[in-house]
Amino acid sequence: MTSVNTDVLDYAGFAYPVEGLGPGAKRIVIWVRGCGRGCAGCIAPELHASGEPTTLDAIVEELRPFLAEADGLTISGGEPFAQVGALCALIDRLRAIRRGLEVLIYTGYVHEQLLKTGGPTALLERADILIDGSYRHELPNTLRWRGSDNQRVLLLSKHAQRYAKQANLPWPEPRTLQVQALDTELYRIIGIPRRGDLKAFERAMAARGWKMVRAAVEEKPDIVTYDDEDE
Ligand code: SF4
Repeated sequence: MTSVNTDVLDYAGFAYPVEGLGPGAKRIVIWVRGCGRGCAGCIAPELHASGEPTTLDAIVEELRPFLAEADGLTISGGEPFAQVGALCALIDRLRAIRRGLEVLIYTGYVHEQLLKTGGPTALLERADILIDGSYRHELPNTLRWRGSDNQRVLLLSKHAQRYAKQANLPWPEPRTLQVQALDTELYRIIGIPRRGDLKAFERAMAARGWKMVRAAVEEKPDIVTYDDEDE
């Protein structure tokens, strides 16, 4: 179901400074919850289910200290286009504090699908960069910022044209993965690992006496879906 309350967002938190999920090494990344697309091998199944929404007031205050210095805002999930109204309102409020804040959005939909349905237009109009298309685990991920090489980096705004060259380059080596402590027992891995990296990490940690446990995955909610026929 699409979020119609634009005062709250189903929000799973943020990280700053983040490198690897868009241009620059100091991005703010926010994660939204809720996705019914079910891409096989999705690395964020803990973000499929809905949770308790957070007020935009609280999110703005959380992000405010980092806005002046950030290279941009990346919105990931979950499926951002399931919460168009709330994300538009959030972007507007953040841009009222930091004029011209660059916005990059990841989506499992393709741009043409989103344009065809009309509903997501307002969010597309606020995005400088869209990384679109289903995550496909069977494909390699050699290209910068993408989870799999079928995904496209679409430079939607005039501002984003400056990334025309780097958007289609391979990932620089070494790649960066970041680890964020959410509490004493829960850590978030930030970035896009190569195929097999997480398993290798798990084995290396096991050899040092650590057991890695994925966050609990709740039942899939009823999430907005756009027509996939053109995919
Ligand atoms: S669209 Fe993204 S969050 Fe949703 S299942 Fe696919 S990879 Fe996972």
